[in-house]
Amino acid sequence: THARTPLMAGNWKMNLNHLEAIAHVQKLAFSLTDADYEAVEVAVLAPFTDLRSVQTLVDGDKLKIKYGAQDISAHDSGAYTGEVSGPMLAKLKCSYVAIGHSERREYHGETDELVNAKVKAAFRNDIVPILCVGEGLDVRKAGRQVPHTLAQVDGALAGLPAEQAARIVIAYEPVWAIGTGEVATPEDAQEVCAAIRGRLAELYDAQVADAVRILYGGSVKASNAAGIMAKPDVDGALVGGASLVADEFVGIVRFDQ
Ligand code: PEP
Repeated sequence: THARTPLMAGNWKMNLNHLEAIAHVQKLAFSLTDADYEAVEVAVLAPFTDLRSVQTLVDGDKLKIKYGAQDISAHDSGAYTGEVSGPMLAKLKCSYVAIGHSERREYHGETDELVNAKVKAAFRNDIVPILCVGEGLDVRKAGRQVPHTLAQVDGALAGLPAEQAARIVIAYEPVWAIGTGEVATPEDAQEVCAAIRGRLAELYDAQVADAVRILYGGSVKASNAAGIMAKPDVDGALVGGASLVADEFVGIVRFDQ
């Protein structure tokens, strides 16, 4: 049994058009049972263009699968061409939004300051952020993964009140393990996830630290999920590639079976 309800979140990245998204969610819904939803919270993070379709399907069929976006604007409205706002995502009943994914930090220049503003934008609109943090290969080789990742946590949470911090989800994703097939060992994941929880206790208190779900992400598959989930400070997974294959994602949801 787990201290916190595990969250398995599929990050589709820039895959699946809205028709493919409907077919994929239908496949997941067909496989997942009430027992799955009782054991684990299941969410998909879809491209913006899919969200309306996913909402219609989930609403119409009363599906228990949650959904959300992969990014959010720091601003609620205005002259920000190409951006999508928190109020727009909230209107689509998004439960979650990924913020600060390593691909956004790397390819779109997202800084800790911007990530912090986006975390606040999510909470302002009642959407739970899945804050992504984690070190690159150079930092890992230098043994600096803990201070590096904790600095990202500090930056992202700056000025965030405890009642919001208690609801955040943090995904530890070592960049060298994302999309590479190179999975961190359960011990690697536990080391940094435990350090993140320790930092939450320092920044806030033990109650906040106990409440926050900390996910591992990086080449999670059905075959390696159980080992990672066995670690006490790992409360779920953020899954990229394997979340696009329905049977594989369902296998991750059923990690302990
Ligand atoms: C991700 O994109 O967050 C991720 C962990 O990708 P993958 O599972 O493909 O490594």
